[in-house]
Amino acid sequence: MKRLGILTSGGDAPGMNAAVRAAVRTATLHGVAMTGYIDGFSGYVADEVVELDDRAVGNIIQRGGTMIGTSRCPEFMDPAVRKASAAQMRERGVDGLVVVGGDGSFRGALALQDECGVPVAGITGTIDNDVYGTDETVGFDTAVNTALLAIDQIRDTSESTGMMFFVEVMGRTSGEIALHTAVAGGAAGVVVPEASAEIESLIGQLKGSFERGKRSHIIVVSEGDEAGGAFAVGEIVGKALGQPYRVVVLGHIQRGGRPTMRDRLIASEAGARAVEGLLAGRSGFMVGRQRGEAVEVPLRDVVAQQHPPPALHLLALAQQLSG
Ligand code: ADP
Repeated sequence: MKRLGILTSGGDAPGMNAAVRAAVRTATLHGVAMTGYIDGFSGYVADEVVELDDRAVGNIIQRGGTMIGTSRCPEFMDPAVRKASAAQMRERGVDGLVVVGGDGSFRGALALQDECGVPVAGITGTIDNDVYGTDETVGFDTAVNTALLAIDQIRDTSESTGMMFFVEVMGRTSGEIALHTAVAGGAAGVVVPEASAEIESLIGQLKGSFERGKRSHIIVVSEGDEAGGAFAVGEIVGKALGQPYRVVVLGHIQRGGRPTMRDRLIASEAGARAVEGLLAGRSGFMVGRQRGEAVEVPLRDVVAQQHPPPALHLLALAQQLSG
């Protein structure tokens, strides 16, 4: 292999830059050049590229987002488009592709390998932590820490005014961000898509807590909850308790920002391992992290299986410690 390609795809996540940097510098060490595709599979289809050498990826490890851009690219679902893009990639002299993204991006990568024989390697890049085969995805730790920072600030107002706050965090269908944020943020309760009927018990618990004179109540709500997010949950619980409340939707501030040490580390390790694996002749794997070690997991398993349900014991723990 003389040249590899890399792209970042789907939602952006802090740590994607660290993964790109590590992949580029590992390739350089092996005398292999790297082509960056702009805006994920959109740039791959349109052949929009940037040359990535060691200097091009300097001073990005500490930056959130992705320097090569990301997008969603519906055209890439079409096998004919994939075939044409793979031929174009070969003409450019690119011999294999590193894809940084989530489940959907890995489906695209696997299709490229299976249909067009392109060697592919995956690196996670999604704040939701909903990918099979890895304990943590790149971006998750930073997103939780960002949510925590917001909650620490909201708590001051909650404590000062006695007002209840419903704070909505991201996570699509996964309650991972909510559960971890709730425990680490000392929340009074947490509402996630994976648990049902927790609103009734939350009401009962908050009632007791108000009676005991507790002033600050923060309830973390996952955006994907079936009750409909923080506004809906706030209305049900606020009405049931007859207490004033406010809703804060953290939204996109959770996506950006300086990646934490943990995300930089996981991303750096994955970037290096992905390139090493491709250069050793392997393909169709994702570099995940299990019990503190980088591991290669077949992409076929990653896209076929669900990430194990989140640590629901954290739900009970958040309640147990809410005081
Ligand atoms: P994520 O990678 O974060 O899960 P998406 O599900 O939006 O994000 O997928 C990102 C991109 O990956 C899509 O816009 C599309 O270009 C490509 N992709 C997703 N699913 C498939 C699929 N089944 N086949 C081919 N490409 C896909």
